Amino acid sequence: ERVDFHCAGCGVGLQTEDKAKLGFIPEAALQKEPLICQRCYRIKHYNESSSITLQQDDFLKLLGHIGQTKALVVKIVDIFDFEGSMISSLARFVGSNPVLLVVNKIDLLPKVTNANKIINWVQRRVKEANLRVVDIVLCSAKKNIGFDRVISSVAEHRGNMDVYVVGATNVGKSTLINRLIRDYSDLEAELTTSQYPGTTLDLVKIPLDDGHYIIDTPGIVYTHRLTEVVKKRDLGPLMPDKPLKPMVFQLNEAQTLFFGALARFDFVRGEHQSFTCYTSNAIQIHRTKLDKADELYAEHKGELLKPPGKADLDELPALVKTPLNVPKGKAFDVLISGLGWIKLNSMAGAQLAVHAPKGVKVILREALI
Ligand code: GDP
Repeated sequence: ERVDFHCAGCGVGLQTEDKAKLGFIPEAALQKEPLICQRCYRIKHYNESSSITLQQDDFLKLLGHIGQTKALVVKIVDIFDFEGSMISSLARFVGSNPVLLVVNKIDLLPKVTNANKIINWVQRRVKEANLRVVDIVLCSAKKNIGFDRVISSVAEHRGNMDVYVVGATNVGKSTLINRLIRDYSDLEAELTTSQYPGTTLDLVKIPLDDGHYIIDTPGIVYTHRLTEVVKKRDLGPLMPDKPLKPMVFQLNEAQTLFFGALARFDFVRGEHQSFTCYTSNAIQIHRTKLDKADELYAEHKGELLKPPGKADLDELPALVKTPLNVPKGKAFDVLISGLGWIKLNSMAGAQLAVHAPKGVKVILREALI
């Protein structure tokens, strides 16, 4: 059924068909006055910004002209999937605007982790990517760690400008925005969405006391992250919600580790050495011999090797092999975007092969911890 009404909150055209699309209003809510879309309803009544998502290309198309306005860009990345959640074409759309890098979910790092070391590591990654940032702040939106630093850094760097908050999906952008809403707005009536010029995209705006706004933008969907590839019910086990408990494995060459049925790590050749797995505790790691690995996967995926369970396996893209030659002399991680990483503790070098669902990013990087 088509509805020819507009939301009294944000002005978007209303529709009753697709929950995931802009302007959705449940049938029942059509009886009530004023007519208000579900998104505005949630914002008004629960102070909750529900996330809209876009592919990176659409994001750039719709929000590309942030570069031509004066603004502070707050970019949120997820420490659990740092490379996977970096916005690769950020430089293209921020123009000469300052970027504040907020590294979220630091509560997931093991308790003993040294924060300065993490900051230095992030600084080196930022430099490698040729990005310029005015500040790097570590925080946990969920556990409310470092949030004061986020606020004070925003205050310090925004000058007399609006603030755009950008991030990939699942980095915790909504959690952070909801905290900002709670901190900044006391009048629910003030909180509103407004249409981004020249588009049908409405953005959540949090008013600041000087007439400027903090503006929430849609989450960018990156299909190179395992979190975007699995079914919703496997997202829980995949994304850790407690500090990581790293698992150490002493392996000989020609041994394999399975991460549920989601990925496989082959130690093909090299000296006996130890590997530390930083993945969600809910993902079972299964060790086997390399020459038995194909057979084990074929016979036991979805059962002994899970998640995903049998019902969802068909929808997981087939595993694709990435060979990796790890040089000697430095500590490296193998990152499987969205699943976590495996640290090579010895600096003896190794020949590896990682099998991950097609399209999922697999990279070798300087060890984080
Ligand atoms: P968005 O897609 O970027 O808006 O992300 P959400 O705010 O919806 O968060 C995605 C998931 O990450 C949810 O399961 C959150 O509970 C979780 N999350 C958000 N912030 C943190 C954090 O600081 N630490 C941890 N461990 N999880 C977080």
